[in-house]
Amino acid sequence: MSEHTRFGPAGVPPMFRVMGADLPDVPRLLRAEGLDALEYEAVRWGPKPQIRRENAEKLGSAAKENDVRLSLHGSYFINLSGKREVVEASKRRLIASATAADWMGAYVMVFHTGFYGRFEKDFAFKTCLNALKEVSAEMRSLGLRVKLGPETMGRKFQVGSLDEILTLNQEIEDTQLVVDWAHLHALHQGSLKKVEDFRAIAEKVEEKLGTEAMRSMHCHFSKIEFTAQGEKRHHTLDEEKFGPDFRMLAEVIAYFQMHPTMICESPILDVDARKMQETMKQVLDSKQSKVDP
Ligand SMILES: [Zn+2]
Repeated sequence: MSEHTRFGPAGVPPMFRVMGADLPDVPRLLRAEGLDALEYEAVRWGPKPQIRRENAEKLGSAAKENDVRLSLHGSYFINLSGKREVVEASKRRLIASATAADWMGAYVMVFHTGFYGRFEKDFAFKTCLNALKEVSAEMRSLGLRVKLGPETMGRKFQVGSLDEILTLNQEIEDTQLVVDWAHLHALHQGSLKKVEDFRAIAEKVEEKLGTEAMRSMHCHFSKIEFTAQGEKRHHTLDEEKFGPDFRMLAEVIAYFQMHPTMICESPILDVDARKMQETMKQVLDSKQSKVDP
């Protein structure tokens, strides 16, 4: 089966709710729009899954039937670099998210690792790395098959630079690379300006994690507004004054024969996901017409 880039929204599009759709209807509605991925948002969860197992399983089978790849975004209330009791509570929340992700057959549980706080950067990162090793081991002992997906972050005080995320992926078993391109752009004050800027990131990933991990990365994308501290607000793709430009990423995806899962985090979730998909198709078609005699 040939792998292709998948597109979908971060969370259930508000319009689906207006239409009165239940959770298991969502994959069918996405498919009707031509989309084939969905990130389920578990971002306000505490130490227990806040979905019934039965509903999670229904969502999972509907996703399978409609060829929609599921991921799950875990709780925002995580700090793996904090004090011991904060780390322990964070681990419980990650396990809760991973448990529900496993019920629905999500392939990755995305999450934010935490904050440097008053610690030295190196110390904060080591604390995070050790805590995640424990989470990974506990997930294995519980038989949870979902991969851990620490995400690249967009603010200076957050743990999760590209280098840190690559190291976590190297050091911890059962991880999946998650790159939020808008966050990288915001953290580095608008660094993604040319195709080469995107290409340099793909090359760095390939060098550290190998070709297949680079090709199959899980991505978040939107346009973004930032301050000196980094990320401020996500924006839609049509807003000219913000970056980054998806077409440049599409060029790199085509060039490296990547097949990422692309989750759209713009304020108009599914609408912009379709716009990115259309751009991707245009880029691939233009390459194809160059190859054809
Ligand atoms: Zn996130």
